[in-house]
Amino acid sequence: MSAETPPAATNAAPGAGQRLDAAQLAEAFEMFARASEELSTAYNALQGQVAQLTERLAVLIGALPAGVVMLDRGGRVGQCNSAAESLLGGDLAGRPWDELAAVLHATETPGELTVGEETGARRVSLSEAALESGEGRIILLHDVTDAHRMRLQVERNERLAAMGEMVAGLAHQLRTPLAAALLYTGNLKQPELAPADRARVADRAIERMRYLERLIRDMLLFARGDSLGRQRFGICELAGELVHTLEPLARARQVDFSSACDCGDATLLGDRKALGGAITNLLENAIQATEAGGAVDLSATLEGDTVHFRIRDNGRGIEPAHQARLFDPFFTTRADGTGLGLAIARGVARAHGGDIAVESSPGKGALFILSLPLPRPDEGDAAPAPKEPS
Ligand code: ADP
Repeated sequence: MSAETPPAATNAAPGAGQRLDAAQLAEAFEMFARASEELSTAYNALQGQVAQLTERLAVLIGALPAGVVMLDRGGRVGQCNSAAESLLGGDLAGRPWDELAAVLHATETPGELTVGEETGARRVSLSEAALESGEGRIILLHDVTDAHRMRLQVERNERLAAMGEMVAGLAHQLRTPLAAALLYTGNLKQPELAPADRARVADRAIERMRYLERLIRDMLLFARGDSLGRQRFGICELAGELVHTLEPLARARQVDFSSACDCGDATLLGDRKALGGAITNLLENAIQATEAGGAVDLSATLEGDTVHFRIRDNGRGIEPAHQARLFDPFFTTRADGTGLGLAIARGVARAHGGDIAVESSPGKGALFILSLPLPRPDEGDAAPAPKEPS
């Protein structure tokens, strides 16, 4: 009996276990079904949200005043907004960016380009970023035509205001030499004047008129401001040329003139004549401020992306009270000075993105440093002359 009856414990346990497992399995299935239903609801909701976000993003990009162009891995336009289409013209989808970029022309400002012709030309600032996924690039085009026009207007107004101030000073500056020239030429009419005296008076009149001529030339240079040219030239080549020009003056004044250029074949992009004129002026001032036996030195060095022209003399130096006024138009301590040389030199340096600094103390000479930014590697002299959208 006991042999026929399977032990309750051994039989009951797997039976109960099986029943339990089936129940558990059913429950697990139910849970799984519930979870997967929840998951698929969540997934659907998420998909809805993604669709909603994509739609909002498309609306947002479409409404952006800036042009947005998304490029695929191959550099072709995947997506773009209407601002980009109206800037670059027509349907852009699928077109290679290189072909579209051909309508953009470089300007004098890095990162800013013009598109379109003459009166309809727009000025855009272009920025580019790679997508994090590495799937392509995004190009942003900002229409900066109005901002640029306003910037030009502000610059013009500033120059006009400076000129207004200068005109007031100029009237005063012109009156004295003109009165002297009139007086001397009036004297020439005197019949009793001996020939030698007549010649002396005529010389004085001529001298005053030459001064007036110089003053007017400097005035024109100062007022010229915006019409600077743009050429590429070697820094050491310019320095060498200036040394050549100034040597006779230094020799005549018995001033020892030395120069060094550490810039190799580095080049500058700008108005060679105006920059040469600015450095010439600094050198002339240095030679004039130096007694016979003194020394003047010109050096050009590269520091980072800047070139420094240093003009050092061991002449009389500059009083602190004068240093603050050095660059003011008409400030001069020389009887025959126009006081415009440094004002023009600083104007030229600033128009090239640089500046002039001065270090000096009375009796200890002076150091003028004209610093200019080097052109960026992508700045080409082949860039067309700045086109101003009207
Ligand atoms: P100008 O040479 O016609 O006087 P600038 O603007 O070139 O006009 O110079 C203004 C003044 O700055 C000069 O009259 C002079 O007093 C002073 N100055 C310029 N450079 C030097 C220098 N290297 N040493 C001493 N004084 C200087």
